[in-house]
Amino acid sequence: MTSLPENRGPKRLALAIDLDTCVGCHACVTSCKEWNAGGDPAPLGDVNAYQAGQRGAWANRVFSYEAGEGEAGRTVHFPKNCLHCETPDCVTVCPTGASFKRAEDGIVLVDYDKCIGCNLCAWACPYGVRELDEVDGTMKKCTLCIDRIYNLNLPEGERVPACVMACPTKARHFGDYNDPDSVVSRLSAERRGFRVMEDLGQQPTGTYLPPRPGKRAEGAALPKVEHGGGRFLRWVDRMLTR
Ligand code: SF4
Ligand code: SF4
Repeated sequence: MTSLPENRGPKRLALAIDLDTCVGCHACVTSCKEWNAGGDPAPLGDVNAYQAGQRGAWANRVFSYEAGEGEAGRTVHFPKNCLHCETPDCVTVCPTGASFKRAEDGIVLVDYDKCIGCNLCAWACPYGVRELDEVDGTMKKCTLCIDRIYNLNLPEGERVPACVMACPTKARHFGDYNDPDSVVSRLSAERRGFRVMEDLGQQPTGTYLPPRPGKRAEGAALPKVEHGGGRFLRWVDRMLTR
């Protein structure tokens, strides 16, 4: 089993995702895939990418679903990726030390050289954001594009995750939650950002900014959505219908 860092550093890096402005275009998904799998030795596996039966390890997915009908109806887009939790079970269950949390900035990563592909971390993560890569047999997840955000060869304005760079509606924001003046801290405070399923004890760092009430037809309440999406999507339903 793997320990979490005892002395946490000054930063808590993660995303803030705006559910009000996300249009479900998947630009963040394809940009993530391009940056992390553009080339054979890249870390994300991609099998039959342009043929029937395409499969791959995706670090970022967007779920879209309909809620309500007529004027009360709306389409909800919910991007899902690692929240870089403070006390993540995905790390502590790892039998080899492959899954780890960085002390200095809180990013949760996988050391591919130590990963044996046992899948324990994917089972332990309640958010379903880890996938086993069938190409090289190791676990893949969002790295917050660690090879971009500290990359001094990139212009300063581009040292953000690829998904943040690509989003056409600026629904994705990146920053340090320990800095009250960072864009993620400010937006979360101003927009009542929320953390997903906090009762599960993972202490997720990333937040979601709820849709603005004005976007909903006046006086309309969203009806309960019946779906087989499991606990995560039931929880999303509850948050969006508050
Ligand atoms: Fe681990 Fe899942 Fe939290 Fe990411 S969201 S740190 S994979 S428990
Ligand atoms: Fe650790 Fe890899 Fe197993 Fe996940 S799949 S628990 S990272 S060894």
